[in-house]
Amino acid sequence: MPKDTRPSHYDILFEPVRIGPKLAKNRFYQVPHCNGGGYRDPSAVAEMRRTKAEGGWGVIFTEQTEIHPSSEITPFIEQHLWEDKDIPALAAMAEAMKSHGALAGIQLAYSGINGPNLYSREVPLAVTGGPILTFTSDPVQARTMDREDIRDLRRWFRNAFRRSQAAGFDLICLYGAHGFGILQHFLSRATNHRSDEYGGSLENRSRFLREIVEEAREETKGELALTLRLSLHEGGAFGFSNAELRDFIEMHGDLPDLWDLAQGTWEACSGTSRFVQEGAQEDLVRGIKALTSKPVVGVGRFTSADAMVRQVRSGVLDFIGAARPSIADPFLPKKIEEGRFDDIRECIGCNICVSGDMTGGISRCTQNTAFMEEWRKGWHPERVRPKGPSSSVLVVGAGPAGLEAALQAARRGYAVTLAEATDTLGGRIARERTLPGLSAWGRVADYRTGQLAPLVNAEIYRDSRLTADDVLAMGAEHVALATGASWRRDAVARFHLHPIPTDPAMPIFTPDDIMAGLGPTVGRVTLYDDDHFYMGSVIAEVLVARGCSVDFVTPATKVAEWTENTLEQGTIMRRLLSLGVRVHTCKAPESIGVGEVTLACTWTGAASPLPAEAVVMVTARLPHDSLWHDLRARQAEWEGAEVRSVRLIGDAAAPGPIAWATYAGRRFAEDLDQPDDRGDTPPFRREVARLEPGPSRLPPH
Ligand code: ADP
Ligand code: SF4
Repeated sequence: MPKDTRPSHYDILFEPVRIGPKLAKNRFYQVPHCNGGGYRDPSAVAEMRRTKAEGGWGVIFTEQTEIHPSSEITPFIEQHLWEDKDIPALAAMAEAMKSHGALAGIQLAYSGINGPNLYSREVPLAVTGGPILTFTSDPVQARTMDREDIRDLRRWFRNAFRRSQAAGFDLICLYGAHGFGILQHFLSRATNHRSDEYGGSLENRSRFLREIVEEAREETKGELALTLRLSLHEGGAFGFSNAELRDFIEMHGDLPDLWDLAQGTWEACSGTSRFVQEGAQEDLVRGIKALTSKPVVGVGRFTSADAMVRQVRSGVLDFIGAARPSIADPFLPKKIEEGRFDDIRECIGCNICVSGDMTGGISRCTQNTAFMEEWRKGWHPERVRPKGPSSSVLVVGAGPAGLEAALQAARRGYAVTLAEATDTLGGRIARERTLPGLSAWGRVADYRTGQLAPLVNAEIYRDSRLTADDVLAMGAEHVALATGASWRRDAVARFHLHPIPTDPAMPIFTPDDIMAGLGPTVGRVTLYDDDHFYMGSVIAEVLVARGCSVDFVTPATKVAEWTENTLEQGTIMRRLLSLGVRVHTCKAPESIGVGEVTLACTWTGAASPLPAEAVVMVTARLPHDSLWHDLRARQAEWEGAEVRSVRLIGDAAAPGPIAWATYAGRRFAEDLDQPDDRGDTPPFRREVARLEPGPSRLPPH
């Protein structure tokens, strides 16, 4: 579509902007973001970045790239630039980034007080020594750097500058935000207690930064642009506050070629949509542009083109920084450029992408099912492979799995029928989007129903609960059963593997009941959470809003413990306490009577009574797989009905987060007419470490 189909109002987003010696083609700036692949999956990461280049981003960055083995943040898998042999993997990424005219940037990091060095085993070096401050509370301390160490560190940075240039990058970002980078540790009085020329006054705390910026320019002969990623606001009595940041920028306005500003902690910067709205950092950034002649980039989970234009027009930002919006839709700039606003796949702010990094798995995205599967599986965020020899597909159930299966199969060109038992499309999304803070999750259903609507080869039937007879009568060649799951009410999950003694007269509810408007509206309620993700705390909020007094019981040592991986756990705990919810950790119900639940300590088994008028179980879920079993029992009839394959997908196969369901839908559609080896080879391409040549280094006998 030609450029002029977009209203001219948005043209400002497509103006070229100078960053030192480089020119960005537009204002779309993919800030550095992790992906759980890092050095382990270099080709997968490079191909992921290539889709962003294709999608029109003007600037594209790597994730955190660690410059030296004396500082690494195991168990998180980022990039390494420790020696020349790390260059080729990063050069491949730079090449992919530049493939459609974007500038390629590398983020260089030295983690200091944040690097436990569990892999390299080197003694961590910090601005001021002390216990390592990462999420994992490793029993490791860092040593305070002396002047010689600082000279070494400057040299290691120089090595990294030279290697970055050799790898073909246009921009170097020096990392000093989110509490992770040593530049922040120098700047912040919380982590810099030095009394030498690198500590004390702001001037002194800035010294290291000034030195390495100068050395970066020298080492790269001024050919690369230098950006500084700094904390917008670090809390605490001694933190590098927003006021001090402004003083710093006033003093050093022209130091970098661009200011890249992000909140003080990663939790604050990358809050989920449940707690943080689009553009939430605006107050912290406004006015900073006036302190410098260099361009400013900020983030804010921007997915609305109007909000982006407002940021630029009102003089808050020069570049629209984005990590998650670029993950959910690598083609966001292109879609805005072409005026295809309805095609934008908006980030829902769920932080499942972050969980991939936190768990050392590989990141996935609820919305963009191709994320990190571009190289592994050949999936693309926008394009699909053409259909194979068969022609018809039936998808049963229009939750996230069924909607994605139907959309991707229809895009491939199959004649798709989507049958949904209720009158609403969306499945669990239709229910969960009504819960407090989760309205943005509705985008999972809205994007897919919106994209399906104009497709002439996709037919959608509501109010159509299919039986095995119906499926066989429809005669589709391939059938996906995406019939979902429901929450259990018998306490079975992880802690209790069997139901517990329960008086049938005691009212017991599940999240499905609460979402249907059933359940208690007053009185004291025990909420038992053995799910550990978001649902328990969200249901607690609903119950409090209804007027209930809630006891939150969990066998875990903290509430919603898996939400550590989505950066929400602390916020959830604060929310529950502020709502007056009584939290009982390391406890599980042993039996349920009328008016009382007997709790047992998970360590000692000591029993304690808890008065309760009702119980809400947030435990395991039961897959709706009866249709699957009915069809399996009648497999002999499939051929006569022209059915060639039936697959159970999403929550109906194995209940999990929504991202697992959308992935399952994509997998079903991509696998159509592909050879089925029944799992004898991995279903994705992977990189196996190349063996390093050389003799054994063991001492002689
Ligand atoms: P998932 O997360 O795997 O997509 P959901 O529970 O969100 O699962 O969605 C399942 C959908 O399937 C629901 O909308 C439900 O109404 C629908 N469904 C369940 N059984 C049938 C059936 N037999 N025929 C048609 N639709 C069904
Ligand atoms: Fe956004 Fe969730 Fe995708 Fe992350 S996983 S990019 S938060 S939709």
